[in-house]
Amino acid sequence: MSLCKDSRITMSDGHKIPIIALGTFSPEVTTKEVANEATKLALTVGYRHIDGAYLYGNEVNIGPAIQEKISDGTVKREDIFYTGKLWSTFHKPEFVQTALKRTLKALQLDYIDLYIIHLPVSLKFGDDVTPVNEAKRFIFEKADLCAVWEAMEACKDAGLVKSIGVSNFNRRQLEMILNKPRLKYKPVCNQVECHPYLNQKKLQEFCKMNDIVLVAYSVLGSIRVDTEWQNHNAPAVIEDPVITMIGQKYKKSPAQVSIRYMLQRGIVTIVKSFNPKHIQENFQVFDFELPEEDMKLIDGLNKNLRYWDFKQFKDHPEYPFLDEY
Ligand code: NDP
Repeated sequence: MSLCKDSRITMSDGHKIPIIALGTFSPEVTTKEVANEATKLALTVGYRHIDGAYLYGNEVNIGPAIQEKISDGTVKREDIFYTGKLWSTFHKPEFVQTALKRTLKALQLDYIDLYIIHLPVSLKFGDDVTPVNEAKRFIFEKADLCAVWEAMEACKDAGLVKSIGVSNFNRRQLEMILNKPRLKYKPVCNQVECHPYLNQKKLQEFCKMNDIVLVAYSVLGSIRVDTEWQNHNAPAVIEDPVITMIGQKYKKSPAQVSIRYMLQRGIVTIVKSFNPKHIQENFQVFDFELPEEDMKLIDGLNKNLRYWDFKQFKDHPEYPFLDEY
């Protein structure tokens, strides 16, 4: 498969999604300004896809970075692909467009390329967003995901977003949307945790059959946040001896091997870094190829290990991770 820095995958609605994205979530409040610098550097290096979210609290820093890189001629708006996410406290259908408009205002954009439902779990409508590193008892809400989806469809019809999709949905939840009466637009993607320790082969196959692009997060083994949102004691993918050994063969870092493994599987790959060296390194993945034997070796590392298990939501009726996939 020939992959290059400008490769995009055509989604079911005809729009094209760049295969590698800069992740922008960082738990530390002090790094919000750093998100601005990281976004600017990523656009300069060649990334065209920025993965953001209202929950991350830094769209207000990322927006000016995008504006600056458009103004200085590095990129055109139409070359950038921004993914935004509808947070769980906005699942009431009348809140959906308001939430998206807040994101647009922070970004200083009049549309975004992709808007996805962040989690199938609904939380008390209108509640404040709680930073990931703060403990809080969440109040669950029972929302009709099909009604949330119809509100997402209305955002697309209003021209506020080009494509709509979901995140952290399991097969049953995807089927609920796909089989919804009067479905206007299919979800173009499902953004889920996916890496050598959680390779999501079954979910990928189901998505492929339904023309849904799989988008992967935590490809390197995630950040380590001491929070109940995350299983932070799990070993990192980029410390794995097999991945390290494969990297040595091609003079590539374990991070580059893990990214390349995902890309070669046809999966859109998000990698977070606010470190200039890593931002550049993570994009240098188009000058080598993993042969079948190495792909198989990495396939063999799967152990269904989930970093982001969101266990504080495990009693919610739409908690997605109790099903096999
Ligand atoms: P990643 O696997 O991308 O890990 C990021 C960590 O790896 C950071 O600590 C980063 O540190 C470090 N890192 C980055 N590049 C390198 C490198 N070359 N060598 C060594 N270390 C490196 O996982 P995340 O869990 O952070 O997820 C990535 C993104 O995915 C998020 O930012 C967000 O956009 C998205 N996401 C979406 C979720 C959802 O529910 N839809 C859930 C979780 C994440 P440094 O910055 O210092 O480089």
